[in-house]
Amino acid sequence: MGNWLRGLMAGRYGGDALSFATLIAYLSLCIFGIFVDSVLIKLAALGLILWAFYRMFSRNFPARQAENRAFLHWVRRLAGSRRARQSRRKDKTHRYYRCRDCGAVLRVPRGVGRIEITCPRCGKKMRKKV
Ligand SMILES: [Zn+2]
Repeated sequence: MGNWLRGLMAGRYGGDALSFATLIAYLSLCIFGIFVDSVLIKLAALGLILWAFYRMFSRNFPARQAENRAFLHWVRRLAGSRRARQSRRKDKTHRYYRCRDCGAVLRVPRGVGRIEITCPRCGKKMRKKV
């Protein structure tokens, strides 16, 4: 049995963080599907589990590693922006604006009245009451 499984997985990519997340998503969809009877949810769950197996049995290591790297990069960005939002909410002495042109986050002191903010990245000027 052990040898059979080892032979089956020889030269195959196996599991990584992305396949683990895919399995978690699959299980969540299955649990969700108990309460909501929908063909779409069943198809999505089936798609996820097939994709997870496809990745685990794949022999194309570079492609699977690239997918996993992209996934981890996305997770880290998501966690980072969440942490940044939390710390901005706790900051009572500054206000935060997003530049409409380049998307840079601008931090200005609170309670100074009407000011003109110049974006340090692109130079766009904005008038704000802080
Ligand atoms: Zn800007």
